[in-house]
Amino acid sequence: MVNQELAKIFNQMAEILEFLGDPSDRFRIRAYQNVALTIESLPESVEKLVAEDRLRKVKGIGQGIAAKIEEYIENGEIEEYELLKRAVPKGIFELFTVPTLGPKRIKMLHDQLGVGSIAALKKAIADGSLQKLPGLGEKSAQKMLEGLEISNSLTERRSIGTVFLAVKTMIAALEKCEGISRVVPAGSFRRAEETVGDIDLLASGDMNKSKKIMKCFRDLPLVERVLVSGETKTSIVTKDGLQVDLRLVAPDEFGSALQYFTGSKQHNVALRTIAKARGMKLSEYGFFKGEKRVASKTEEECYASLNMQYIPPELRTNTGEIQAAQKHAIPKLIELKDIRGDLHSHSKWSDGANTMEEMALAAEKLGYEYLAMTDHSQNLRVARGLSLERLKEKKKELDALNKKLKKITILFGTEVDILPDGSIDYPDNILKEFDIVVASVHSRFNQDNTERIIKAMQNPYVHIIGHPSGRLIGRRKPYQIDYEKIFKQAANTGTVLEINSQYLRLDLQDFYIREAKRWKCKFSIDSDSHTTASLELMELGVRWARRGWCEKKDVVNALELEKLRKALK
Ligand SMILES: [Zn+2]
Ligand SMILES: [Zn+2]
Repeated sequence: MVNQELAKIFNQMAEILEFLGDPSDRFRIRAYQNVALTIESLPESVEKLVAEDRLRKVKGIGQGIAAKIEEYIENGEIEEYELLKRAVPKGIFELFTVPTLGPKRIKMLHDQLGVGSIAALKKAIADGSLQKLPGLGEKSAQKMLEGLEISNSLTERRSIGTVFLAVKTMIAALEKCEGISRVVPAGSFRRAEETVGDIDLLASGDMNKSKKIMKCFRDLPLVERVLVSGETKTSIVTKDGLQVDLRLVAPDEFGSALQYFTGSKQHNVALRTIAKARGMKLSEYGFFKGEKRVASKTEEECYASLNMQYIPPELRTNTGEIQAAQKHAIPKLIELKDIRGDLHSHSKWSDGANTMEEMALAAEKLGYEYLAMTDHSQNLRVARGLSLERLKEKKKELDALNKKLKKITILFGTEVDILPDGSIDYPDNILKEFDIVVASVHSRFNQDNTERIIKAMQNPYVHIIGHPSGRLIGRRKPYQIDYEKIFKQAANTGTVLEINSQYLRLDLQDFYIREAKRWKCKFSIDSDSHTTASLELMELGVRWARRGWCEKKDVVNALELEKLRKALK
């Protein structure tokens, strides 16, 4: 990690010097660029080299550079870098991230047109002033626009749901590469954060086959470009612009490396403080007591070396999990294998892409006992909500299907609108015919919806409140509700709160799941699938529920069908 940070700093110092354009800095620029490359491809941490006084023996690291590296390890910063950063306008750093723009060109644009940010660059291209500069034209402008697009797609964080299945597919492909024994995602993906930046994958296996392993990664069909590729680390960009880094570590360091690269930063800082008090030091290469490495193979043994219970990655947020682990009070969290069915999904009867039979067969493949087909209700016309008449036809098809299916039961369900006044979009005599009634808010997101939802929970036929906050990650904020009132009411009426796993939802939010659990609320983890493929988002939902400290006993769709029927009000 330190290697990457330092390489970035030396690269940036070179960029800044080039931008400043003093001809006497020529050699310094070259030296910084070279050292960045050297450090990035070192097989061991510079920290270790410094500690063992071997830094100056590395080819390409002279006296002056070595002093700067030592300064960084000692103080966490390099004075020259801090001074250089102050010598250029802030927006220039944005421009450095555009791959088709070099520092010299940035300087020219800055001096001649006053371009000092990405926004200013876009403007200069749009109004044509850039194209008029000597040596530039429509073609170079086009190239810069392409560069802007790439830098944009690489810097933005995405909702985890939009990359979840793709990353799983990539891991499955990597597991087949010769020499790899295991691959695990690290970072925010492993912690199941709601958004992710670059994806970090950690692999271990036969270190003698590292070249082969890296080639196998570069050759995956979804790879668009290779950014860097060394023996222990390769970075690629996928066809949809996602950066993925694969790091190869020795099997006996896999646990400490995984712990290190999983984070979160807050969790690891807190852990290091505890380690320090015990005379221990933690790094990606192992947990050390003095000189002796006491743990490194597995994460379990790493946490045990600090006298702690293993902490699942989803809990590593430094919000009480470390104290709980010290008291061995972390509960056994829900797992994907505990899930027996899905209580929220859509078919072609409303706005789904597949027939009920296709959905049922896909759910059967996942090993489910039951799947609720909860198509929309009459009010939601944009989603082809079902009239009372079409509801009857659907029931007929569903009964016939259940006779045909051997291993799975299709539950007759509805996702019924909660109307603005809190009433339910089907009358009670219809509602009582359903096995599963999920009631959801699909309108008026700008108002306080507390009373509306509370009224819906009072309806004896409503089993589940769907996506309780209505948020869409990056698109729509949660509407206003008084969570305490909602949780109290849900506990009183025995209404289940949904943990919705759809791409942009992840709703309830993790901290509210934890809060609702304190009120003794029950949950259902649902995929809200509109396609057969997205049934698999259940796994993300389970991981999200774990972030809220959910256990098997809190989740109704971890029950066998007969017990589920009894558990629902
Ligand atoms: Zn919905
Ligand atoms: Zn839905």
